[in-house]
Amino acid sequence: MPLIRKKEFLSSGVFKMVIDAPHVASTRKPGQFIVLMTEESGERIPLTIVDSDEDDGTITIIVQIVGKTTTCLSEMNPGEELYALLGPLGRPTDIKNFGTVVCVGGGVGIGVVYPISKALKEAGNNVISIIGARTKDILILEEETRLTSDRLIITTDDGSYGMKGFVSQALQDLID
Ligand SMILES: Cc1cc2nc3c(=O)[nH]c(=O)nc-3n(C[C@H](O)[C@H](O)[C@H](O)COP(=O)(O)OP(=O)(O)OC[C@H]3O[C@@H](n4cnc5c(N)ncnc54)[C@H](O)[C@@H]3O)c2cc1C
Repeated sequence: MPLIRKKEFLSSGVFKMVIDAPHVASTRKPGQFIVLMTEESGERIPLTIVDSDEDDGTITIIVQIVGKTTTCLSEMNPGEELYALLGPLGRPTDIKNFGTVVCVGGGVGIGVVYPISKALKEAGNNVISIIGARTKDILILEEETRLTSDRLIITTDDGSYGMKGFVSQALQDLID
């Protein structure tokens, strides 16, 4: 059964988890997800594969606590085992050298766009990333995204960090 290796809260309602899943780690592509169950009588929930380490046989997920299963998962700790984990699932994102690409993600959606921006950078693109959150305290993956981007634009709804406004406004400004 898949062992939880690490858990770290990124903000009060969002946490990162590293889980043993050697098959997924060695075969997954950007844009794919897993389905997991915390317990036998629990629900199956889909979660994006944010990152993986093939040598270590692990995958990383970032989860926002919204309901029963995400709460249950947030209460599990390293050393404990999930009931089941299935993947990689879903159609991978089309990755090639497009030239210049813009990767846009807000809130926990940054976890979804991060593996895609990383792969686009590795494919030789000029990567512009726009990431945003409601406030500075809950912005995730800033340093990781900085490493995968040639240019990084940050927005917060309340203006506590970066540009004040939504990621969509920053994208519109860039297009204009
Ligand atoms: C392909 C895919 C990838 C995804 N990747 C990610 C990811 O990387 N990270 C991530 O955090 N999420 C991701 N999600 C979303 C994630 O799957 C859901 O947040 C998760 O399934 C919620 O499960 P839950 O049991 O915790 O919530 P549920 O209990 O199913 O609750 C879901 C919603 O319903 C509301 N709700 C629950 N009970 C009630 C009630 N009685 N009355 C009114 N409202 C109620 C909750 O507040 C919540 O908004 C992804 C989804 C898909 C489809």
